[in-house]
Amino acid sequence: MDLPTQAHLKTLRDLLTYRLAELRADIHAAEQERRDSAGAATRDVIDRKEEAGVRQRTEVDSAQEQRDRDELIEVEAALHRLDAGTYGDCAGCGEPIALQRLLVRPAALRCGRCQSEREHATEHARRA
Ligand SMILES: [Zn+2]
Repeated sequence: MDLPTQAHLKTLRDLLTYRLAELRADIHAAEQERRDSAGAATRDVIDRKEEAGVRQRTEVDSAQEQRDRDELIEVEAALHRLDAGTYGDCAGCGEPIALQRLLVRPAALRCGRCQSEREHATEHARRA
């Protein structure tokens, strides 16, 4: 199995740092938008149909925002593990996570095997 070298770790840190900034920007934009639409809703009288549309959009946005927040936590945790020198060890079995997997998903907490065991119920036919 290929293990991450120092150069790989640098690349992975860069990927994580970039993703962290991206997620923070997305979440910030979502918060901004929610404040704006909340303000608009209280200021203006909107008919029921329009109101329903706004609510639906807000639900979709907040699902996306929740995913962003979950990923942000994962990415931050991965950066902490990089600092602590424990990065790349599977949280499930303690074995090193394959480099190929880390490069695709730098914030991965588990090796492919442990992850697919956890996702067993919801796993789609995804090729590793
Ligand atoms: Zn594992």
